[in-house]
Amino acid sequence: MTRVLYPGSFDPVHNGHLEIIETAAKLFDEVVVATMVNTAKDGVFDLDEREAMLQEATEHLRNVTVRMFAGLVVDLAAEIGADFILKGLRAVSDFENELQMAQMNNAASGIHTLFIPSASSSSFLASKFIRDFTRFGGDISKMVPASVARRMRERYG
Ligand code: ADP
Repeated sequence: MTRVLYPGSFDPVHNGHLEIIETAAKLFDEVVVATMVNTAKDGVFDLDEREAMLQEATEHLRNVTVRMFAGLVVDLAAEIGADFILKGLRAVSDFENELQMAQMNNAASGIHTLFIPSASSSSFLASKFIRDFTRFGGDISKMVPASVARRMRERYG
């Protein structure tokens, strides 16, 4: 049985993330999606709201579980017994940072990171753009799960 950990900010989860989660759910026995604290990003939603949105967006996937975590990815991976960390890649610009993080995590705990490339149709999606777009009245309903669009509307009016 192979269990993978897919960590991220997910502030909020969007269709690019969901595509990675759905692919991972086909490839692996168990997928644990974890919304994490990221001190480098100015977020909108609390961890428990992000967790709730992830739960709503993945309830159709029986081998996916969702949780929140304030700490190191490698510590969570050890706690849940993950075989691999999973990351999505949009473009070369993601790769540089993700490669360094993967090497750091491997040096720290021996765990390997696997990468899944996004489809070209969702490679432009990023939570930051979703937040900015909504803040100024843009329509993001085709880019996020329905429950996220609803919560974004509630948040920004
Ligand atoms: P964002 O960059 O949208 O704020 P996160 O920091 O929550 O997203 O990213 C969590 C993981 O999902 C990272 O591995 C990131 O590279 C990946 N990811 C983010 N957006 C996409 C996308 N559109 N397609 C594929 N992977 C993505």
